[in-house]
Amino acid sequence: MTFSVHGLAVSRGIAIGRAVLVASSRADVAHYFVDAAKTDEEITRVRVARNAVIEEITRVQKELPKDAPHELAALLDVHLMLLQDELLISGVKHWITERHYNAEWALTTQYEIIARQFDDMEDEYLRERKADLEQVVERILRRMKGVPSPLQPQQVVRQAGASRKESQQGLLLDDTVDVPLVLVAHDISPADMLQFKQSLFAGFATDVGGKTSHTAIVARSMDIPAVVGARSASQLIEQDDWVIIDGDAGVLIVDPSPIILAEYGFKQRQGELERERLNRLRHTPALTIDGQRVELLANIEMPEDTLGAVAAGAVGVGLFRSEFLFMGRESKGLGKLPDEEEQYLAYRKAIEGMQGLPVTIRTVDIGSDKPLDGRGKAQDTHLNPALGLRAIRWSLADPPMFLTQLRAILRAAAHGQVNLLVPMLAHASEIRQTLVLIDHARAQLDNKGIAYGQVRLGAMIEIPAAALTLKLFLKYFDFLSIGTNDLIQYTLAIDRADETVSHLYDPCHPAVLRLIAETIAECNAQGKGVSVCGEMAGDVSMTRLLLGMGLRSFSMHPSQILAVKQQVLRADAGKLAIWAAQVLASDDPAALL
Ligand code: PEP
Ligand code: MG
Repeated sequence: MTFSVHGLAVSRGIAIGRAVLVASSRADVAHYFVDAAKTDEEITRVRVARNAVIEEITRVQKELPKDAPHELAALLDVHLMLLQDELLISGVKHWITERHYNAEWALTTQYEIIARQFDDMEDEYLRERKADLEQVVERILRRMKGVPSPLQPQQVVRQAGASRKESQQGLLLDDTVDVPLVLVAHDISPADMLQFKQSLFAGFATDVGGKTSHTAIVARSMDIPAVVGARSASQLIEQDDWVIIDGDAGVLIVDPSPIILAEYGFKQRQGELERERLNRLRHTPALTIDGQRVELLANIEMPEDTLGAVAAGAVGVGLFRSEFLFMGRESKGLGKLPDEEEQYLAYRKAIEGMQGLPVTIRTVDIGSDKPLDGRGKAQDTHLNPALGLRAIRWSLADPPMFLTQLRAILRAAAHGQVNLLVPMLAHASEIRQTLVLIDHARAQLDNKGIAYGQVRLGAMIEIPAAALTLKLFLKYFDFLSIGTNDLIQYTLAIDRADETVSHLYDPCHPAVLRLIAETIAECNAQGKGVSVCGEMAGDVSMTRLLLGMGLRSFSMHPSQILAVKQQVLRADAGKLAIWAAQVLASDDPAALL
């Protein structure tokens, strides 16, 4: 039966595909497709691991001392029973042969299905067996770790479902056409989201998260339709259900009827045509009708994202969120933090990727909804992680770590135009400490005779206290970059990652607009560079207002650049300045947009 679930629209477009439910704790399991010829090998991998676990448990059982508690022997029996359960084995085989999932993915998918059945059981004893199943699956996964995978996630082969011809809706799928998959999860950490960046999924939906949560930001950078804050979506949707993700309206439609499918198929094609039209603007200079030049820059998370940035016609990188190099490493056995050489090579790769265009590297912004490792904010033991040890506070708390990053950025700057941007500054003392450490990093490189380049220094304006003390910031920095995501969060006291208060997260609140407008005006008056790099910069409904406030530099996901350029080309900056003054004076600015 068709039903819909409402959430927040975070990344535009329509995706239609079968649901892949991924538990937050399972997101770090490798997800890739195996070649059709290798499915038997993949099934063997699971079988070998499962048999090894059975042997291990049987041995433990045999060696149990006579006086061992009876419960222990019973528990081992349960584990052996679960390991031999036909539902587990046949399910895993199904996902591998029918969908070409890799072994780990097939196993965790089947685990999710059986775990739900346990959840629905009346009998408390049986319900609790879910924990045993989890342990058993965990053991098999651990066994499989270390066994070389036939394919790496990067070598994704899209062959899923070629053998399944008829969908539940009676749609006939061509043999050569893949079944698109959409990811449905309760929550996914930004680091785990990154591993899905190879576009394995056609769309994505989570129960939690706000529009500017970092998970949503990464989803947007993947340029696939996404909905967050869809409350109980991961409970209501079942593995393999057909789902439409409407990233424009923020709606999920589950098990759609043929009529609804046809309607959304039409919308999907309309969207594709619109994109093709926008693509023609790629080489058009971003000039307003009255001849004002506007700089459209890219936000990136990884050096490889520069490819998309150049392809979209970005004239530089306005925000390289360097923290993504620092996240999710331990679970991949990469060591806790990237060392100087690794960072230097990553920054250099981004600089070279931009082919001579400027690159703004932001120093690490770890904390809040971007934990170093682990499963996200819920695991953070601090009471208010967004107000805690985050971004520059985290860096200043660990000078050797910060100096390592600064040296790597300075060295990379020898290869191109680099701007060094510092997040979350609020205090004069933090500014002073940061500048001292930058000088110290230069001195360390001088002492070792290592070459480095010049950088322009910038500060992010994302705490109201910073926006209210601009003169201090402009005394020390060459440019400012307004981080509207956090500026809104901290001005309105609304957690940007919490969907329960997302209706209050208002970019058009008069207080927010005033702080933005004053920052732009002060920088323009002093001839200092200013840009907006929060999600507002890529929101086409805000482009005219920001232009009217005098903004001439916008940094956003590459996927948004052409749509914003279209707005710029249609705008008359002179007229917009008069209109923007009225909007700023209004009690209800949104009504005038
Ligand atoms: C912002 O706060 O607007 C910003 C660009 O930084 P981040 O989203 O990474 O916090
Ligand atoms: Mg920020």
